[in-house]
Amino acid sequence: NTDETLLEVNNIEVIYNHVILVLKGVSLSVPKGGITALMGGNGAGKTTTLKAISNLLRSERGEVTKGTITYRGNDTSELNPSDMVRRGVIQVMEGRHCFEHLTVEENLLTGAYTRKDGKGAVNADLEMVYNYFPRLKERRKSQAGYTSGGEQQMVAMGRALMSRPETVLLDEPSMGLAPQLVEQIFEIVKSINEKEGVSFLLAEQNTNMALRYSHYGYILESGRVVMDGPAADLRENPDVKEFYLGVS
Ligand code: ATP
Repeated sequence: NTDETLLEVNNIEVIYNHVILVLKGVSLSVPKGGITALMGGNGAGKTTTLKAISNLLRSERGEVTKGTITYRGNDTSELNPSDMVRRGVIQVMEGRHCFEHLTVEENLLTGAYTRKDGKGAVNADLEMVYNYFPRLKERRKSQAGYTSGGEQQMVAMGRALMSRPETVLLDEPSMGLAPQLVEQIFEIVKSINEKEGVSFLLAEQNTNMALRYSHYGYILESGRVVMDGPAADLRENPDVKEFYLGVS
């Protein structure tokens, strides 16, 4: 049932350091099996929204001061980030955080830490990840710190998949990558979505790419959702074309 809602963000406000109001009432929902895009320029609040969902804000002195977040109908405010992973929600951070001194494969294996289903299942998933990212298989014995930017983005995504997530919060996968590589990464997201049924909430400044690959989109500006709709409609919207797609 694709109408099932997994994640519901309802009118949240986020404040950093007790004073800086960054999200001013953001609402969005993520349906099961979809790719949902969260777009907007630098500083609009995309990363903050993802961190509010995965409960990574506290470590940055940020706080949800209003509104609610539920996953499968349950309030998530009391959960810590690893509880969220156990419930199926994992964030892939912007800037491809890898353990630089570990090999590619060791990095991937760290992603399985919340699992209790044994080595066989974890090894099978390692093969699943290598299937989506053949390049990582070739590089599996290399130290992650010496791999390219695109490969590190793949490591970060592959590590998230190793937790067997239901929903991935993917922050700015295109950042700093050559256009051809961006295309490749988005194609992989699409096939993971289609074949594994993983739902995505994709934060992306690259509106053009985000709207090509998502089903539904939200546009954030200064901490507020200013527009939302099916991706196909947003692509044809004159304001979106003029202000976000650079065509008029
Ligand atoms: P980017 O693409 O640059 O990550 P973004 O849309 O993801 O943009 P956020 O990173 O969520 O935006 O930042 C939104 C606003 O919150 C910015 O003005 C930023 O300066 C501010 N901000 C982010 N993190 C903190 C923090 N830890 N403390 C104080 N202010 C912060």
